[in-house]
Amino acid sequence: MTTHRIVLLGAPGAGKGTQAVILSERLQIPTVSTGELFRKHMREGTDLGELAGRYINGGNLVPDEITIRMVRERLSREDVAGGFILDGFPRTVAQAEALDEMLGEKGITAVVELWVDVEEVIPRLIGRAAKEGRSDDTADVVRQRIRVYREQTRPLHEFYIAKGNLREVNAVGEIEQITERIVAELGR
Ligand code: AMP
Repeated sequence: MTTHRIVLLGAPGAGKGTQAVILSERLQIPTVSTGELFRKHMREGTDLGELAGRYINGGNLVPDEITIRMVRERLSREDVAGGFILDGFPRTVAQAEALDEMLGEKGITAVVELWVDVEEVIPRLIGRAAKEGRSDDTADVVRQRIRVYREQTRPLHEFYIAKGNLREVNAVGEIEQITERIVAELGR
């Protein structure tokens, strides 16, 4: 059986979280979502949650050192030994390098980049605020998140092209359709 160690890349609102949940079910491997992990800490009121919240609520990235430490701990657990899907990590080149180091020879099996028109997702992101009660989906914060994405996360596109394992997927369309595109790319 193939072991999948998948990274999902894409702008805020591209549908990484949605696809991660579906793929996780389909491939029977856990999803590790840094956004979810941070939000859990925030709900539980831990020190990490309090610290992370200051960045998240402003639409900024939680510092690399803190994020990397949290992911390293998560990926050291037994349940990811048979594979995993990373949703929202890495978001900087420093995180990507740390991930390579964490995985060692095993490495990532596929990097799937979900492509959307960033301008188009802005209203969708703002609309999500009400539904999910996320504190980081107000108009100003969304704009900041997009800015941060362009400056800090977009460079991962080139980073993974250089590594030769980037699979680009058009993420405009029906959810099921996009899942099929991803699965097709994973099989290549
Ligand atoms: P997400 O749920 O993936 O949209 O993440 C929500 C927020 O959590 C982001 O806007 C960041 O503030 C923070 N966050 C999530 N993942 C990371 C990461 N890999 N590095 C730094 N901050 C992150």
